[in-house]
Amino acid sequence: MNNQQNLLVWYQENKRDLPWRNTQNPYHIWISEVILQQTRVAQGLPYFLRFMEKFPDVFSMANAPEDEILKLWQGLGYYSRARNMHSSAKLIAEVHQGVFPNTFNQLVKLKGIGPYTAAAIASFAFKEPVAVVDGNVARVLSRFYALETAFQTPAGKKLFSELAQEFLNKSEPDMHNQAIMELGALVCTPTNPNCLICPLQSNCLAFIQQKQSQFPVRITKNPPKKRYIAYFHFESNGKTALFKRPKGGIWQHLYDFPYLESEFPLTDEDWFSQAHLKNWFEPKQAVTKVLEKKHVLSHQHLYVSFYLVQTEKIKELQFGEFWKANEELHQLGIPRLLDSYFEKLKEIYPELIS
Ligand code: SF4
Repeated sequence: MNNQQNLLVWYQENKRDLPWRNTQNPYHIWISEVILQQTRVAQGLPYFLRFMEKFPDVFSMANAPEDEILKLWQGLGYYSRARNMHSSAKLIAEVHQGVFPNTFNQLVKLKGIGPYTAAAIASFAFKEPVAVVDGNVARVLSRFYALETAFQTPAGKKLFSELAQEFLNKSEPDMHNQAIMELGALVCTPTNPNCLICPLQSNCLAFIQQKQSQFPVRITKNPPKKRYIAYFHFESNGKTALFKRPKGGIWQHLYDFPYLESEFPLTDEDWFSQAHLKNWFEPKQAVTKVLEKKHVLSHQHLYVSFYLVQTEKIKELQFGEFWKANEELHQLGIPRLLDSYFEKLKEIYPELIS
């Protein structure tokens, strides 16, 4: 027997007896799938039974006031799913005279029906040979083929749906789809898959290589970028040099201090020699280190040193700077990072900043 046949035999012997499995009614299958996207089988079952009792067909749902649908849905969360279900029921009742669209391409156009639900209805109810790929199926496939691509990426979505389609038993797509979902739910579980009783074991690459725990692979996030920055607070006779950050990038249009930047940590002397090269101050100029701080942004970590440089005369820094009166500073839009600096500065030089 091949993999697909083994899978079907296993399914016939081990499947759970669930009410939506004993029907080919697309309406029933649809409602069960919408509920199961929100919750697990055990919690979803009573909801399904209540929906079937209250709205046994698409007309009864289409004619019901929205409040009644939402009341029955209560506890499942994400109410837009219930609203979309109601609006598609109305469309099927009114535009299609209650006849359920019967192909994947028609189904996927309905509000709230995505590729997964469309494939489930098309295959379970109409035996269209389209593969379903939910989280359970993706886990089985990722281990069976030892896939190095994460399912959640665009490339992963494409790869998994192509492989699922290739793996599909085209003559029994309804049973095959249910079987592979059930295998993921009962045997090829997220942790400790029960490979010893798995019908796919002999050809499963993850099992053969004993690497089950390494699949499915997760999306690897890029580590945050580290940036090392030296801020210089140039102060002269009650005025401070600031420039306005340009459009785009972080903190656009906020006022900021002139700064230097490095990809590596630098000492105070390293920063000062760079500042001398720019002719920002003379080598003998007194410079005070006021604060060192790590500032965490979503994709970058800034390691910042703040230096105070007081001069008698205003110096041309050629940084696009404006010299603003110190008493105006609190009215300007500045990055939060500079707030910490000014707080520290107030402790050390209360007379400098009001
Ligand atoms: S052999 Fe193990 S890892 Fe492979 S599909 Fe079966 S349960 Fe999953």
